[in-house]
Amino acid sequence: MDSKVLDRLARVVGTGGVLSTPEDLAVYSYDATFAEGLPGLVVLPETTEQTAEVVKVLAEHRIPIVARGMGSGMAAGSIPVCEGGAVVCFTRMNRILEIDTANATVRAEAGVVTATLQAEGEKHGFFYPPDPSSIRHSTIGGNVACNAGGPRCLKYGVTGNYVLGLTVVLADGRILRTGGKPIKDVTGYNLNGLFTGSEGTLGLITEALLRLVTRPRHAKTCLAEFPRLADASRAVNAILAAGIVPATLELMDQTAIGCIEEAMHLGLPRDVEAILLIETDGSDEGTVAGEIETAGRISTENGARSVKVARTESEREALWKARRSISPSLARKAPNKLGEDITVPRSAIPEIVQRLRAISARFGLPIVIFGHAGDGNLHPNILFDKRNPEEWKKVEEMVGEIFGAALAVGGTLSGEHGVGALKRPWFERALGPVSVEVQRRLKQALDPTNVMNPGKMFQD
Ligand SMILES: Cc1cc2nc3c(=O)[nH]c(=O)nc-3n(C[C@H](O)[C@H](O)[C@H](O)COP(=O)(O)OP(=O)(O)OC[C@H]3O[C@@H](n4cnc5c(N)ncnc54)[C@H](O)[C@@H]3O)c2cc1C
Repeated sequence: MDSKVLDRLARVVGTGGVLSTPEDLAVYSYDATFAEGLPGLVVLPETTEQTAEVVKVLAEHRIPIVARGMGSGMAAGSIPVCEGGAVVCFTRMNRILEIDTANATVRAEAGVVTATLQAEGEKHGFFYPPDPSSIRHSTIGGNVACNAGGPRCLKYGVTGNYVLGLTVVLADGRILRTGGKPIKDVTGYNLNGLFTGSEGTLGLITEALLRLVTRPRHAKTCLAEFPRLADASRAVNAILAAGIVPATLELMDQTAIGCIEEAMHLGLPRDVEAILLIETDGSDEGTVAGEIETAGRISTENGARSVKVARTESEREALWKARRSISPSLARKAPNKLGEDITVPRSAIPEIVQRLRAISARFGLPIVIFGHAGDGNLHPNILFDKRNPEEWKKVEEMVGEIFGAALAVGGTLSGEHGVGALKRPWFERALGPVSVEVQRRLKQALDPTNVMNPGKMFQD
């Protein structure tokens, strides 16, 4: 990297804020996927104004700018794919700037860890619902940039449903402020929506103003066992049709149950095709309890052979342990796993599961299926050994087939993780040429020299 560029950047963020040794760069060369890409340098700004100056210097030298939070992304979005790219990492911008109790909002810098923001909200009696499973190792900036979701999305919505305003450094270094505290705001285009989910391709998010809600005081959880997976899927629809919107409606298939049991010995039934973990919550204890009883009854009417309702907090924790144990259990089962996050119309869950099983059988590698059944958002995880080149080749083909299957049943590529570098080849097939052309034009209008995260989303 040109030493003049490094000097100029160091004058903006201080010498400690510019990293360029091979050891430092290696730390920023990967995320939660198998992709890797070494940046040419890393910059760690501490304020929006510093970020704007950094962008001006980098853009002047046409150095690609790759935003990074904590690198927990599952689409290789924060990895530089262009040689010599600069990673702008927000972990030093980790201050919660304001909690406005009257308006129930929180203003936070991009690098605040999501769990920290949640905990801070709770101290003031509020609730910030978006709950990606990576909550302790992902940032608010990354969550907004990916429009992150989680198990509670069915009832509470995704990150984008909580974004009231953003501060964004544009590709030319100007600072844009979108939205504000008014809940209703239709003055002009919805720029919050434009930057939410933009994966660092339109600008660098430096601050977010987020909506908080009242914390639900009661929660009830149950686990329903279904000999047939199609019945579990029917039960999901029937519960929602009855007017119950659980906070969580999680599905685990037989392969997932088997993996959890092998690793954790929780006493889950290995002879059923699926289990549903259902949780209702709210401020009225009686209503919450009534809803879980009804959800359980509907499950039974739709083929559940048993429904276990947690009577105490420790029983509730035990039921959740199964869901939380999936990822670590898979890690014990095979050296590697590759997880996707396809989303399908809820009614298509049985068909997609059948198609995923057929793909697994054809290639001879296990696919574990679990996910947010209420949203139709499934996480098929392929288990394999990356050291075996034949298996890796199969995995690459299987991923293509998984996306193809999701599109064939009216679904989409990603419900949470985004497109990044990995789903680029499928972007146009999923959206069609007109949608991609419109999105390209938006990108060109905001970033005419394509410095913001080039090589992501669009096939260049
Ligand atoms: C174990 C595990 C569980 C997960 N569970 C979930 C889940 O339940 N739900 C879910 O949605 N995701 C989940 N993820 C994926 C990931 O954690 C989320 O996508 C998260 O939002 C990424 O945040 P991050 O700070 O790590 O961002 P990074 O990985 O650093 O970046 C992700 C993308 O956002 C862009 N970006 C980051 N910060 C900014 C910024 N300030 N301005 C502009 N662009 C920016 C990057 O360029 C990149 O394109 C999981 C990941 C792991 C490893």
